[in-house]
Amino acid sequence: MYPRVEIDLKKLKENTSFLVKLCKENGVSVMGVTKCFCALYDLAKAMVDSGVEYIADSRIENLIKVKDLNVKKVLLRIPMQSEVEQVVTYADYSQNSELETLKLLGLEAIKQGKIHKVILMVDLGDLREGIWPTDVDSFVKEAVKIEGIKIVGFGVNLTCYGGVIPDEENLGKLVEIAKNMQDKYNLELEIISGGNSSSLYLLLQGRLPKGINNLRFGEALLLGRETAFGNFVEGLHRDVFTLKAEIIELKDKPSVPIGNIGMDAFGQKPYFEDKGIMKRAIVAIGRQDIDPNTLIPIDKDITVLGASSDHTILDVTQSKRNYKVGDTIEFFMEYGSLLKSMTSEYVKKVIK
Ligand SMILES: *Cc1c(COP(=O)(O)O)cnc(C)c1O
Repeated sequence: MYPRVEIDLKKLKENTSFLVKLCKENGVSVMGVTKCFCALYDLAKAMVDSGVEYIADSRIENLIKVKDLNVKKVLLRIPMQSEVEQVVTYADYSQNSELETLKLLGLEAIKQGKIHKVILMVDLGDLREGIWPTDVDSFVKEAVKIEGIKIVGFGVNLTCYGGVIPDEENLGKLVEIAKNMQDKYNLELEIISGGNSSSLYLLLQGRLPKGINNLRFGEALLLGRETAFGNFVEGLHRDVFTLKAEIIELKDKPSVPIGNIGMDAFGQKPYFEDKGIMKRAIVAIGRQDIDPNTLIPIDKDITVLGASSDHTILDVTQSKRNYKVGDTIEFFMEYGSLLKSMTSEYVKKVIK
C-alpha cells in the first residue's frame, strides 16, 4: 500500500549509538526526541536500546504511547495547566517557565504521592519558551517554595523560532545562571541542557561549553544532520526514512498553465518558468502528508514542481528511468516532510 514511509531501524540504532558515544565522551547525556515520529514504540525502543538516557517529547499523548519503556521520560513543551494530571502521571520530568503551572504540578504530585522533576527553561534570545535571564533569580526564589516539585535542571532552546545559533556565549551564560542558582538556592542539579540538534556542531568541534551535560536530539538522530548550518554529519545515516509514493498520472504537458493566473489551492499566486513541454508525473500524496519544499527525490533528475492537498506534481523529463503509471517514486525527507508524513494517517509506516 502506498504512500508509505519505510523506516530502517538498524540505521536509527546506528545513528543513536554514534551520538550517544560522542556525547558520553564529552560528559553529556542524551534525550532522544520522539515527536517527529509521533513516538512510534519500536523507534523509541530502538533509541533506548542504543543508549539514550531519556525519551523526550512535546506531547503527553506521545509519552503515554511509550509508557511501558523502562526509561526516564521528559515533557519538552511547557505543560498546559489543563494537562497537569497526565503530566505528573506519565512524565518524570517537564520543562517549565510559569510559576502558576508549577504550583498546579506540585499539588498534583502531592496528590499522586510523587515528586515531579522540573527543568527550568531560560530564554537566551530565540524568543520561544523560557524565563528571561534577569527574571531567573526571582523565579527560582518562588519556585523552591513549591512542594511536590524539585528543580533538577536548567535548559535552553535555540534555533527554533528566532534562528539563534548556539555558541560559547549563550550556552556559557546558561551554565553561569545554572551554577549561580545552584549555589544560591542549594539546588541538586542533574541536568544543564544545552539545546537540540543545532548544538551538535559545537560538540563535533570540541567547543561545547564546560558544564553543559545534556543535549536533546531529534533531527540529528533521524536525518543525520546538525541544524545550526544544516550540514550532514559524517558517520550518521541520512536515509533512516524513505518515502514511497505511486504515480497515478504521467503525461506530456506544458510547463506554464493556460489562462489567467489567480490563486492556487493555498491562496498563493504561483509563478511559472516556461520550459516548454515536459513529462509530468502526479504521485498520490499531497500537502496533507508532506511539504513539497522538503521532499527530495532520490532520482536526482526529478524535480518537485509543487503540490496541492492530495497531489504532488513532478517533472520527470530529464530522468533516465522510463517511469510508468503505477510505478513508485522514492524520496528523502527533510524535517517538514518527515513530521507531516509521520503524522498523516494516510501514510503507512513500514518498519524494516
Ligand atoms: C523538538 C525539540 C527538540 C528536538 O529538536 P531537534 O532539532 O529535532 O533536535 C529539543 N528540545 C525541544 C524543547 C524541542 O521542542
